[in-house]
Amino acid sequence: MKRLFTRLITAFGAVILLTLVALSVALFALLRHDPLTQRLLTLHLSTQVRAVEGRLHRAGDPHPGTAAGAMLLRELARREDRRILWIDNGGIIRFDSAARWEGKSADTLLVRGGALHGGQHWGEYETDEGTWLFVAEPLVLHRRREGEIAVGMLIPRTALLRRFSATLLGPLLQAGALAMVLSGALALFISRSIAQPLQRVVEAAQALAAGDLSARAPEDHGPEEVRHLARTFNAMSDRIQATQEAQRAFLANVAHDLRTPLTSIQGFAQALIDGAAADEASRLQAAQTIYEEAQRLEKMTTALLDLARLEAGAMHLESVPLDLGALACARLERFRLQAEAQGIELRCERPPSLPPMAGDAARLSQVVDNLLDNALRYTPLGGEVTIEVTATGDELRLVVADTGEGIPAEALPHIFERFYRADPARGGSGVGLGLAIVREIVQAHGGSVAVESAPGQGSRFILRFPRLS
Ligand code: ADP
Repeated sequence: MKRLFTRLITAFGAVILLTLVALSVALFALLRHDPLTQRLLTLHLSTQVRAVEGRLHRAGDPHPGTAAGAMLLRELARREDRRILWIDNGGIIRFDSAARWEGKSADTLLVRGGALHGGQHWGEYETDEGTWLFVAEPLVLHRRREGEIAVGMLIPRTALLRRFSATLLGPLLQAGALAMVLSGALALFISRSIAQPLQRVVEAAQALAAGDLSARAPEDHGPEEVRHLARTFNAMSDRIQATQEAQRAFLANVAHDLRTPLTSIQGFAQALIDGAAADEASRLQAAQTIYEEAQRLEKMTTALLDLARLEAGAMHLESVPLDLGALACARLERFRLQAEAQGIELRCERPPSLPPMAGDAARLSQVVDNLLDNALRYTPLGGEVTIEVTATGDELRLVVADTGEGIPAEALPHIFERFYRADPARGGSGVGLGLAIVREIVQAHGGSVAVESAPGQGSRFILRFPRLS
């Protein structure tokens, strides 16, 4: 929390400082060109230049170009503590009481200026010492225009600074200090309102890391970003918990499903060893059961291995062009004998020519086999199992439909999960891995699988694959 607070207060401080600097610059500029002061000074100089011209007339119009004229002007400048310039008709400064600008063009020195009443005008000159403000008016001697006479004063830089610090600096600093105090309080408030709820998320994460999978962060504290983080964290925890529970269930299932046939094998083997199976027929029966259970174990471990490899993406899938219709109908033929024995009719419907798809024939056969195996297992005597392959748009559709007992609605979302069996009592040797493998293989082919079913009305497994373009 401290770090957040420090960052906030630093950021606020920087903003306040920047604002103060910008404000000072603006105020300084305003002070410098303060129209009122400017007017007052100009007015003052305007009277003075008129007075200077009056003095010249009274002294008998001595020309400033002459020694007498220049002396008088120098004397006036000294007495009034002003600078006096005489600019000839060509705009060249011919007399400067400060003896610095003589021979220079008055216009090139000018920074800004403007007209005043009575033929006067004002002008400003920037120098190292500060700004010189002049007011000039035409000089008329013996009714002849003799250029202009100008009276000026220096507005030193330091004067501006002094005025600034005397009038504006104090209030500016006060405002800055007040802003700093307020932003400190604000920073404290913000850092508290973010840091505290954040701390709860941290605590929940620590608890989770320590193994408490039920740890959750409160989702209704703090700003939206923190709430969002809490929600995301909780969703993640939910998933971790679900995954762990699924893993536990999976292990329990595997252990259970391995145990049943193993117990059976053990029992019959023991009977053979002990001689409990006395006659030839019961010995054969025991051997037959051991063989079947071992087969079941082999089937299950193969299925588990397949599933693990598919889920890890480690199973190599071929991708060759194939006719899905021909493949599915060929697989169906292999179930004909079994179907006849169960009194179930088999049908395969496909158009004479289908666009090809890219896939692994062996794995796709496994998919069709698993679906047909289920269909036959859950369909009673007199039923019907149909395969239908069609092409729509850029897809190939394979439907395996039966007229069997169907799947209850509450089981439908789960039947593709590993080890899920809608009704373990039925379905005999099934271990609940067939459909999980179907889904993995179909997805590995870029396809999708869906199921439609209602109890008593049969089931339809609908597979979609992208066709080869
Ligand atoms: P199993 O080896 O038990 O058949 P599956 O993964 O193939 O495992 O199927 C999971 C569950 O889905 C089955 O236990 C069964 O309840 C249900 N099921 C699958 N196919 C059908 C079907 N054609 N008709 C009715 N139920 C089905």
